[in-house]
Amino acid sequence: MNLLAREIVELIHQEGPISISRYMALCLGHPRRGYYMKQDPFGADGDFTTAPEISQIFGELIGLWAASVWQAMGAPSSIRLVELGPGRGTLMRDMLRAARALPGFHEALSIHLVETSPVLRERQRATLAGSGKEPQWHERIDQALEGLTIVVANEFLDALPLDQFVRTPDGWRERLIGLDGEGRLAFGLSNEPDSSLGIVAAPGSVLEQPAAALEAVAAVARHVAAEDGAGLFIDYGPARSGFGDTLQALKRHAFVDVLAEPGDADLTVHVDFARMAQAGLAAGAAAHGTVTQRDFLLALGLQQRLEALSRRATPAQAEALASGAERLIETGPTAMGDLFKVLAVADPKLPLLPGFDLHRLPEQG
Ligand code: SAH
Repeated sequence: MNLLAREIVELIHQEGPISISRYMALCLGHPRRGYYMKQDPFGADGDFTTAPEISQIFGELIGLWAASVWQAMGAPSSIRLVELGPGRGTLMRDMLRAARALPGFHEALSIHLVETSPVLRERQRATLAGSGKEPQWHERIDQALEGLTIVVANEFLDALPLDQFVRTPDGWRERLIGLDGEGRLAFGLSNEPDSSLGIVAAPGSVLEQPAAALEAVAAVARHVAAEDGAGLFIDYGPARSGFGDTLQALKRHAFVDVLAEPGDADLTVHVDFARMAQAGLAAGAAAHGTVTQRDFLLALGLQQRLEALSRRATPAQAEALASGAERLIETGPTAMGDLFKVLAVADPKLPLLPGFDLHRLPEQG
């Protein structure tokens, strides 16, 4: 048992079984032993790899997306670019490089990063050192939102804690983490059913309640609806809501037992995009999407960007660029292009945002 596991066992001895959201929050955000708080988990020799770490084209296209939104807003002379959970800072670095392509855009930007991990803040500072911008860091989303704002978040919502409920013959019971006969962490159910959940489902169904992710989307949506701007969320998960336990732990690119190594494995959930879009609409914003990452990146010009970069590359570089780009848009149930979805929430006065206009007919001629 690692040190955080011991600490959680002690907590359960004192207070009784804990919710899934409390467990997730401790595993990821415990000040000393939380997964993101003590290390940089990304890359081939880490636990997982994200889209910006796979290909520079990802961040460049999102930079161009942000530039189009800025233009649609009337090219204001000053605007915030906010990133939620920036990881190593790679996405922001690539966005800022692409931002220089549009006169006036780079100059208009002030950079705001929402990041709780001190280790990753240092990493972001180093990555963005040559970007020509001095980022400002914030603990919480609401601190970063002010005035005209464009928000981007890649693989952020999947790291936010959620609660789970299991359908039993006498109603929904909360799924909790307690101790087994040998004093080890184990899943269980609350003694009393929760009467506040009016949803009907087959016995055994698992219902996830992603309160923190819904509030994150709602906070961005409220802000951009009131102050003008847009927020872009990219993550893995279904476009339509359904039942099921999506809590997963990842270590060295393989799935591991969720309870085995708290704080030493990444812990995430799938994002229910239908509910995220609803939260955005309920907060007064327009919702664009949900579309697949493949459709989004192809609509933004992934192929053209790949060709442009390849013309200036050596054969070996061109091959690496092509395989990175292919990975971003690959199809299949567990491949990035299909599994990852894209949702934007925006000021309702803005037109349909780039990347989401998939159903426009190609020009005749
Ligand atoms: N966007 C990056 C990293 C994704 S990993 C990429 O695509 O590579 C999740 C990121 O969110 C990490 O930077 C992590 O430290 C941060 N994070 C997790 N929970 C957070 C919270 N509650 N508030 C702010 N940042 C958080």
